[in-house]
Amino acid sequence: MEERTIAVVLAAGKGSRMHMDIQKQYAELLGRPVIAHTLEAFEKSEVDAVILVVGEGEISFAREEIVNRCGFQKVARIVTGGKERYESVYRGLCAEDGADYVLIHDGARAFITPELIAQCIRDVKRYDACVMAVPVKDTIKIVDEEQYAVSTPDRSVMWQMQTPQCFRLPEIREAYRKMLESGEKTMTDDAMVMEKYGNRRVKMSMGSYENIKLTTPGDFILGEAILKNMGKTEKKKQER
Ligand code: C5P
Repeated sequence: MEERTIAVVLAAGKGSRMHMDIQKQYAELLGRPVIAHTLEAFEKSEVDAVILVVGEGEISFAREEIVNRCGFQKVARIVTGGKERYESVYRGLCAEDGADYVLIHDGARAFITPELIAQCIRDVKRYDACVMAVPVKDTIKIVDEEQYAVSTPDRSVMWQMQTPQCFRLPEIREAYRKMLESGEKTMTDDAMVMEKYGNRRVKMSMGSYENIKLTTPGDFILGEAILKNMGKTEKKKQER
């Protein structure tokens, strides 16, 4: 039987580091809401369905103004997230039962492409657990509470995590369930949950330095440049 892959796209964050009146996922980037750029990549990808996780009271807005307006066919469910990212992820994971694999993606990473999603699907089918990531370019310091440098980890073995983070759906859901049961609240990505509460090693899948998360206002300026450049690449592909 054909294996089924879904995506959980997270858009329930408040985006407090953005200092905007509107939440960053609904702010416009080249005339289109951020979350619409993200969902379009999944719409054009090989995932079978998308679960969209939004903030409290935002389901009908997201359905009418984003999903219906843009005509996204793959968004099968829209559910309400929680206060923390991990709560939003768990609610997304519980919204769909009949899938083999899940790609968990930050809605604020609007520059994901169908090609990168295809790579994630290939890699999760091969390794059972993988995350999109890139080798660290800058030197990283461990600091003390007064921000004095304490040590410098070896840069050559460090990777910066992105999303999608991809797993067998029943395995990551179970790992999350155990984490929530334990009361632990420090997990900042899904791979950490699998590393600690699941029993799979997590493989790196080479991402793109353009797959940034829109976090601060400056990221929007960078984001417009990335989108314009992606448009040019797309045009070149069509001309070939
Ligand atoms: O806050 P942060 O930048 O880590 O958020 C990453 C992604 O997780 C964003 O797309 C955000 O909308 C989502 N998120 C969520 N629920 C939360 C917090 C963040 O869906 N409670």
